[in-house]
Amino acid sequence: MTTFVLATANPHKTEEMRAVLGELGIQLLPRPSDLPDVEENEVTLEGNALLKARALVHATGHAAIADDTGLFVDALSGRPGVFSARYAGENATYDANVAKLLGELVDVPAIDRGASFRTVIAVAYPSGMSMCVEGVLEGRITTARRGENGFGYDPVFEPTSAGGRTLAELSSREKNENSHRSRALRSLVEVLGTSS
Ligand code: IMP
Repeated sequence: MTTFVLATANPHKTEEMRAVLGELGIQLLPRPSDLPDVEENEVTLEGNALLKARALVHATGHAAIADDTGLFVDALSGRPGVFSARYAGENATYDANVAKLLGELVDVPAIDRGASFRTVIAVAYPSGMSMCVEGVLEGRITTARRGENGFGYDPVFEPTSAGGRTLAELSSREKNENSHRSRALRSLVEVLGTSS
């Protein structure tokens, strides 16, 4: 059986990955709780995901899986992108990040409010080999928050395919079926399914 250690400590992401990769006979080990966080100082999602996966291989000796996600807004030349978690400052709350985003877009008309969520999942092996897959969800930024579900920028992101609802107005099942993360995960399954 192939075994991977997961870089994320987020229980929702862990469950989602376990549900999908378990079907391939892949065993996922949780990230050891005594490992310090890796400083995500790369300028691309791919760079950060690889950094986290390689650090985990180094610490555990197992193959490792890590992900990194960002929101790329057209009218802001792709910002906040790789800095999505700390858009309004180090340790910013989700609410502060959303408020900053709505403020920066206050004069931007509907037609120019396009954006995409991108998730990169990196896999690194003790041999030094590594690879990345990506999942993208296209949509637009609303002018006000709508919906109570999800987290992060969900209340202001309207996927093109969601009939005018924001991600926060979708059930978690609806979001997970087609999110950037689940699309990346599906690509990972395809790649690992043919190689493991
Ligand atoms: P991470 O790489 O998954 O930690 O994501 C970085 C940041 O992007 C998070 O702090 C959130 O602000 C945002 N983010 C990631 N995934 C989502 C999502 O599915 N919905 C809304 N915001 C997200």
